[in-house]
Amino acid sequence: MKPWYLAGANFKCTGCGNCCAKEPGAVFVSFEEISTMADELKISKNVFLEKYTRKLHGRTALLERPNFDCVFLKENRCSLYQARPKQCKTYPFWPEILRSKKAWDNEKMRCEGLDHLEGDHYTFEQIRAVLKEEST
Ligand code: SF4
Ligand code: SF4
Repeated sequence: MKPWYLAGANFKCTGCGNCCAKEPGAVFVSFEEISTMADELKISKNVFLEKYTRKLHGRTALLERPNFDCVFLKENRCSLYQARPKQCKTYPFWPEILRSKKAWDNEKMRCEGLDHLEGDHYTFEQIRAVLKEEST
């Protein structure tokens, strides 16, 4: 079956902060990503792990505040934007969101940037490239 996004899709991040907040989630981080974020904060990897991460399903994930905001969300913005993990960079082009048009449309309840009229147009090839990056 052909993917529904064969003709591409529009997306624009408005910076609303919704995908980083408000409901339970999990941003998993690799060793390299921990290292990049720790460098950005000018702290050691161990201090980073202690202060900003938790163990979840045997993996390392960023901490959430009690209201479910990501620990790095400050005034609705990512305070570590340049060093943010791959999982954040590749949103919304995740397999579970792209698996059907319905899943994509459902995600609009969370992200106002999907199909944004002023959004960048991502071609099928560009979306596949992000998907591939997401899965490595
Ligand atoms: S929910 Fe969408 S528009 Fe809002 S910050 Fe996240 S990616 Fe950007
Ligand atoms: S690291 Fe930044 S972009 Fe990723 S969830 Fe946290 S605040 Fe959002």
